[in-house]
Amino acid sequence: MIIDWNHIDTVLLDMDGTLLDRHFDDHFWLEHVPKRYAVKNGIPLDTAKKSLCALFRSQERTLNWTDLDYWSDRLGLDIPLLKLEVEHLIAVHPGVVEFLLFLRQHGKQIWLVTNAHGKTLDLKMRKTRLGPYFTGIVSAHDIGLPKEEVAFWGKLQQTVPYDPARTMLGEDSETNLGTAETFGIRHLIYVSRFSSTVHPLPSERYASIHYFHQLMPPQGTTAVCLEP
Ligand SMILES: [Mg+2]
Repeated sequence: MIIDWNHIDTVLLDMDGTLLDRHFDDHFWLEHVPKRYAVKNGIPLDTAKKSLCALFRSQERTLNWTDLDYWSDRLGLDIPLLKLEVEHLIAVHPGVVEFLLFLRQHGKQIWLVTNAHGKTLDLKMRKTRLGPYFTGIVSAHDIGLPKEEVAFWGKLQQTVPYDPARTMLGEDSETNLGTAETFGIRHLIYVSRFSSTVHPLPSERYASIHYFHQLMPPQGTTAVCLEP
């Protein structure tokens, strides 16, 4: 087993790419938005893609990156409405519900901790119905910092009372695992199969999984592996 569950009280889980298929987000920002942006501005799709790529890059590692209101203003498009047009692509990764049930059965605190904007969170929780599985849900927009900053993880403790030494973080971002590691979160798991359309590559720095069932004891051994 990669994880000894007896050493963990709290599980922090990222949303996009970690619990949900990032194909939705990649398709939305790299295909759907450029298509609508090109039509609105009467420019070729290729040109739209290039200029949007530069705009997106300029806001990397900031909260603007995931702020739907910011992008609605900046691009002159109704971004929440455009998300609804492709919401059929929102999907939960295989084995996620079973993993969340396993954590609940064993009394772990389960927190969804995401950079996603409140409007994205609402849409995705409505569509996937994952909300009730969590002890709580935290958006970085409420914390005021993105997970890409080490200070995020300290500020998070004001909302989530966790002991970094007894906490696991699951992420599809090595950057975010890196800031969590610097802060002192002990158990770090990289989700390499963040999108159903990519060929997964393991992290060179962190324990990597394709699916969360890899963190569950084989059936029938639960009682032996876990203290009550
Ligand atoms: Mg992610």
